[in-house]
Amino acid sequence: MAVAQIIKCSNCGAPVEFQPGELVATCKYCGFTTVIETGQAFVFEHSLLLNHFDQSQIDKPIRDWMTSGFLKPGDLARKAKITEKELIYLPFWLVSITVKSTYKGVFERVAPPVVKEGTMEKEYNWLVLAREASAFPTREYDVPLEGKIPYDFRKIEGFAKIFNSEIEREEALELAEQQIDTHHRFLLQQDVDKIIELKNEFNVKTMVYLHAPVWFIKYEYHGNIYQLIIDGAEGMVLKGDIPPAKFGLL
Ligand SMILES: [Zn+2]
Repeated sequence: MAVAQIIKCSNCGAPVEFQPGELVATCKYCGFTTVIETGQAFVFEHSLLLNHFDQSQIDKPIRDWMTSGFLKPGDLARKAKITEKELIYLPFWLVSITVKSTYKGVFERVAPPVVKEGTMEKEYNWLVLAREASAFPTREYDVPLEGKIPYDFRKIEGFAKIFNSEIEREEALELAEQQIDTHHRFLLQQDVDKIIELKNEFNVKTMVYLHAPVWFIKYEYHGNIYQLIIDGAEGMVLKGDIPPAKFGLL
């Protein structure tokens, strides 16, 4: 386990802890955000999504998830024991971007195959998780942006953790562009079977650094531990491990 380091908050003087690899750190006492390498203030827009669940209210979306859907064991809600509830404010880069894809490809579903050309224009609020290693289901996360406010440390619960960014703005933009390229290649499969050329024109409107509340839940069921990831703004289950429905009845 890597050792945390400490810088002094240049706004209030409090110690600000950060882990190796983190690039941007937010002071938990005053909310001031610093670029670690330079010690300078972070100049981009920093936003916060509010969490709407406390430690006991989060049980409702958990139980609702356990009792809905066909694939779950019938006694899941009754037998599952919640063993861990952790609220973490995860850092994201939110890239508001328009993309014009100009493509040329081969349509092979007719004989003989034909070459097709076209353009596709899309607009996104593309979310990039600002952490290096994570199995977080970013594409499943439809961020409720209406609830976005300027970052306010007073709105963050004392029991919550705040993760800092490990990814710079430029890197986040590159990642967003790569991910959109992949997404557009997927979308274009409807139109062409083989892409010969694809050119994307990206037009970035805004980029916002965003902390969003995410609950990491662990529960025990028949001796095994499973994980649930729930968005704290609206209670949406982003990812849930479902135990196998039958045990030893083969
Ligand atoms: Zn401070």
